[in-house]
Amino acid sequence: MRDSDDYPGVLDAVMERVRSHIGEGKVADYIPQLAEVDPEEFGFAVATVDGGLYSTGGHASTRFSMQSITKVFTLALVMSISGGEVWKRVHREPSGTSFNSLYQLEFEEGIPRNPMINPGALIVTDQLLTDTGDAFGALQELLCVETGDPDLHADNVVADSENEHGDRNRSLAYLMASFSKMHNPVPEVLDHYFRQCSITISCEELAKAGLLLARHGRRADGSRLLSTREARRIMAVMLTCGTYDAAGEFAYRVGLPCKSGIGGGILAIVPGRCSVAAWGPGLDDKGNSVTAALALEAFTDITKCSVF
Ligand code: GLU
Repeated sequence: MRDSDDYPGVLDAVMERVRSHIGEGKVADYIPQLAEVDPEEFGFAVATVDGGLYSTGGHASTRFSMQSITKVFTLALVMSISGGEVWKRVHREPSGTSFNSLYQLEFEEGIPRNPMINPGALIVTDQLLTDTGDAFGALQELLCVETGDPDLHADNVVADSENEHGDRNRSLAYLMASFSKMHNPVPEVLDHYFRQCSITISCEELAKAGLLLARHGRRADGSRLLSTREARRIMAVMLTCGTYDAAGEFAYRVGLPCKSGIGGGILAIVPGRCSVAAWGPGLDDKGNSVTAALALEAFTDITKCSVF
C-alpha cells in the first residue's frame, strides 16, 4: 500500500490499473459535437490543499467539455449569494430516474429531485440569473479565478450543438414554467445553461477548481465563498446525487463526493485534503466515464482516502 502523500507513486499505480481499459465505453453522441472526441484519451490530476498538483495519463492538460460538472459550481454560487433560497425550489434526494427524465417532474409538480440533474440545474441557473444578471458570466469568472487561468471559456460550437438538439432540456424547462417554477424567460435560462455546460476545462484545471470544496468553501485567495457548512452540504449532494443513477455504486466503489458529466469528466473531493479530476470520453450505460470511474476507484483503494 502506498503512502497517500506519495502522489507521484500513487498516480503511477492508478495508471497501471487503468491502462488496459483506455478506449472502453461509448462517447456521448446526443450532443453531436461531443461524439467527435477521441475515445482513447485519458487524464487524471490531483490538486492538494497545500498547493501540490500532480497528474498522469497523457491528457491531464487537454481540455474537455465540462458539461454537468458545472452543476457543482453553479450550486456553490447560488448558495453563496442567496443562501438557502434555492432549496425552496429543488429537493435533495436521488432521483432514481435518468438525469433528463420528464415524468418524475410532472408527477412532482415542477420541483426537481436535486440540483445535480438537468431540471434541478436549470432551476439553479434560473436562480443564478436572478441573483447576478449573468449566470454564465458568474460561473466563468469563478472558474477562471479558482483555476488561475483567465482564458477558460465556453465552446460555442458545442453550446450551439446542444441548443440545436436541446428539445429535452427545453421540455424540462417549459414543464417547470407551466408550474410557475421558472422566474426568468425559458430561452434566456437555456442559453446560459447551454453555454455553462460547454465550458472546456482540463483535469489539472478542474482539480484546482475543486479545491474550493476540499478547502470547505475557501477560495484560492483565502477568502470564503461558502461557509464550511454549505460546502459540506454541497459535497453531501454530490455523494448522493452526483453520478446519475449510479450514486450508490460510486459510494460503494469510490466512497467520495463525485460529480460526473457526459463529456467524460468526473470531479471527486477528498474533504480537507485534495481534489481529484479524471477524464476519459467513453461512458458506461449510466453515463459515467468508464476510465475516470476506474481511476477514482483505484485512487481510493490505493490511498484509502475515502470518506468512509
Ligand atoms: N449539457 C448536458 C445536458 O444538459 C449535460 C448533461 C450531463 O453532462 O449530464 O443534456
